[in-house]
Amino acid sequence: MYPTMKTFLDLENGSVFLVFFGLLRILGGSDGNPGEICYNVCEVSNMITMDDIIREGHPTLEKRAKEVGLPLDEDTKKTLTRMRQFLINSQDETIREEHGLREGVGLSAPQIGISKRMLAIYTLDEDFEEHHDYIIINPKIIGHSVAKTYIAGSEGCLSVDREVDGVVPRHKRVSMRGHFYRPDTDTVEEKTIRLRGFLSVVIQHEIDHLDGILFTKRIVADLERAEPIEFKLPETEDDESTPEENHNRFPKEGKT
Ligand SMILES: [Zn+2]
Repeated sequence: MYPTMKTFLDLENGSVFLVFFGLLRILGGSDGNPGEICYNVCEVSNMITMDDIIREGHPTLEKRAKEVGLPLDEDTKKTLTRMRQFLINSQDETIREEHGLREGVGLSAPQIGISKRMLAIYTLDEDFEEHHDYIIINPKIIGHSVAKTYIAGSEGCLSVDREVDGVVPRHKRVSMRGHFYRPDTDTVEEKTIRLRGFLSVVIQHEIDHLDGILFTKRIVADLERAEPIEFKLPETEDDESTPEENHNRFPKEGKT
């Protein structure tokens, strides 16, 4: 899944820059040391690019992926680390443009042609407050709200190159259980997490990939009694710039 200008175009005027701001803040967690990004990229020499991502119409995107065996083997760990690294790379403007990447916040293994139940998520929430960095194996939605939500302007997908209008109904909140892999400690932990809003949409989108469902199959024209996800920029005292000025800080190219 990706957050792009297209994804957020239907938000109120001026909101597009929030995405960029959020991404800057994501990177702020790691690009206080710019060398770290280079280190990560250099470390994963065979980085995932758009050439590795299969697109709509490919049969692997339409079948149910298989459970992943535990403990994880070394090849699977490397794949998972590369998937997470793709998301980090895609959110760095320099790397993204150099390698022709599309910006992503979630990636499932079937999207790189591996029909296994595993995925990576790397993003801030819609309040730009909490950073979510997950590599999840055999995820299961074990509970969800009745209330629905959706992303205004439809969802985006790294495996779908065309523009798709409409609304994708998603549960506003979900509880998800799975095995979480951490590359830094090389550990796997089974746990349950609760996600709401944007993160809830992202996890449902990625788990759909594991079940062979593209978001395009869930599109409806409209969704009554559901609130769209709103991206809220926290106000800071020293930021007196207008949305227009903020928008102009960021080049438009490479965001869609
Ligand atoms: Zn997708």
